[in-house]
Order: sequence, then structure tokens, then C-alpha cells
Amino acid sequence: MPMFVDTSPPGQCIFCRLVAGEIPSAKVYEDALTIAFMDIGQVTPGHVLVATKRHAATLLDTTPEEAATLMQTARRVALAVRTAFDPPGLTLLQANGALGGQTVAHVHLHVVPRHEDDGITFTWPRQ
Ligand code: C5P
Repeated sequence: MPMFVDTSPPGQCIFCRLVAGEIPSAKVYEDALTIAFMDIGQVTPGHVLVATKRHAATLLDTTPEEAATLMQTARRVALAVRTAFDPPGLTLLQANGALGGQTVAHVHLHVVPRHEDDGITFTWPRQ
């Protein structure tokens, strides 16, 4: 069974600390509700995470405005990724709960550029 690697309380989880600037990140975008930054474990070059600024464990804990803004930010990021990497494909992933494949319990969405023969086989939840 997949394991959460970070179930810290609100304000103390790794993404809350990243939002607060307490740990470094390669931030690519932010607005009032969301932040986008390079995933520390690049599945493919240009892999970006989009997260809420407020701590919400899963999509089900977001407000409608946060949920809508997450997707708007993902679209912005996807357009920037297209400019930078020109991938012929793009995979968006969003996991909820350990059994859903989520390892950081602060809602986020993966934007993953895809290329021919990139060798990525998504098994979900991840092994
Ligand atoms: O969907 P899931 O919860 O498994 O995704 C968590 C993601 O957070 C992972 O892709 C991991 O590489 C990323 N991460 C990060 N920076 C950290 C800790 C985790 O980008 N400091």
C-alpha cells in the first residue's frame, strides 16, 4: 500500500513550509491562491507541481475557488511548459489519499511533459 511521506499538520507540512519560503523551491508562478514550482523529483524535464497556498489535504478539502484556480494555474503552467520544452504530450495527475497515490498530504496537481519514448509508464497508485 502506498505510504504518505508527509502528513504533518496544517502549516507544518512540506508544501506549507515551501509556500512560506522556509524551504527552497524553484517557483515558476504564484497568485493569491496557488503556487507552481518544479517537482524535486523530475519525472520528465519540466515536471511542475501546482499546489494551493492554503493547507488543504486533498481536492475534497479545497474551496470551489481554490479548485478552479488550481486548474487555471495548471493551464498557465502547461502553456509555459509548451513554450520551454515543446512536448508533444502532457500528462496531468492529481492524487488524493494514500490509496489514491498521494504521498504529500497537501493538495497538488502534477504537470508532466511527455515525449516519444520518454520511458515513463505510469502505474497508479505509484509502486
Ligand atoms: O502525488 P504525490 O503526493 O506523490 O506527489 C508528491 C510530489 O512532491 C512528488 O513528485 C515529489 O517529488 C514532490 N516533492 C517536491 N518537493 C519536496 C517534496 C516532494 O517537489 N520538497
